Amino acid sequence: MIIDIHGHYTTAPKALEDWRNRQIAGIKDPSAMPKVSELKISDDELRASIIENQLKKMQERGSDLTVFSPRASFMAHHIGDFNVSSTWAAICNELCYRVSQLFPDNFIGAAMLPQSPGVDPKTCIPELEKCVKDYGFVAINLNPDPSGGHWTSPPLTDRVWYPIYEKMVELQIPAMIHVSTSCNACFHTTGAHYLNADTTAFMQCVAGDLFKDFPDLKFVIPHGGGAVPYHWGRFRGLAQEMKKPLLEDHVLNNIFFDTCVYHQPGIDLLNTVIPVENVLFASEMIGAVRGIDPKTGFYYDDTKRYIEASTILTPEEKQQIYEGNARRVYPRLDAALKAKGK
Ligand SMILES: [Zn+2]
Repeated sequence: MIIDIHGHYTTAPKALEDWRNRQIAGIKDPSAMPKVSELKISDDELRASIIENQLKKMQERGSDLTVFSPRASFMAHHIGDFNVSSTWAAICNELCYRVSQLFPDNFIGAAMLPQSPGVDPKTCIPELEKCVKDYGFVAINLNPDPSGGHWTSPPLTDRVWYPIYEKMVELQIPAMIHVSTSCNACFHTTGAHYLNADTTAFMQCVAGDLFKDFPDLKFVIPHGGGAVPYHWGRFRGLAQEMKKPLLEDHVLNNIFFDTCVYHQPGIDLLNTVIPVENVLFASEMIGAVRGIDPKTGFYYDDTKRYIEASTILTPEEKQQIYEGNARRVYPRLDAALKAKGK
């Protein structure tokens, strides 16, 4: 089985974006604030938006199941207050839930949280619990920077985040550490802000002792870990300076990287540096990089090709990356699959 642990609903019907634009307008003019009930998207529209896009590419490329969350750049936690984020998160999560119900063999949900800058993260717990308990979601996306590129929140090792971690451990769900759109002109959203955040989150964990407090906490750092694998020697050296244990013991029981790296040398580097147990298959399709690489003639985000072509990994290791690791890091996903006899 091939499990893609990183997919977003980037192809939702346009009515969603229209509703969101009205909601944003309603922040300044409350009389213009739309009701949730004014957003109407039929099952047929949902089906069409998936069949012609994600599902088609999954079938063409040969992946079976995608862990599916709301469009990351649309989370935009910096817009409005907690109530705005809360309503928006509930809508986006429900759509992913409906997709998972329409295509139960191909999609399973991961939640966005109703984060808002300066608001206590524990306010996200009701939405998180609803998504896991009522919708069968198997993970969350946790935004380390709800300000959208201004980094006004404490590091992920700060106790302010602990209520989320306690709930994650209790429910056995990992968090993908995933920022949203950048509203800082210095940082391009997917080319800089995402990768900065991946690198930043990792270094926060290296500098702290979070996993001493939460030995069962699991973070997935997407986009191949940002700069982390490439600069592994720097992180090892910094950890040593800080008198931390070896990274294998300090963070690698808890931190995992996905394969959203869009060229062969990058994937080969990831698999040379990072232990196979810590690498999970993902493509983030349909996401930021949608074009065809003129050097190969294939889509950049067709990441399965790079795993297939790897001469570093054995067939068993490839299967671990495709399936085994995901089942271990996402216990609820494993349980949902086993319940179907898979
Ligand atoms: Zn993503």
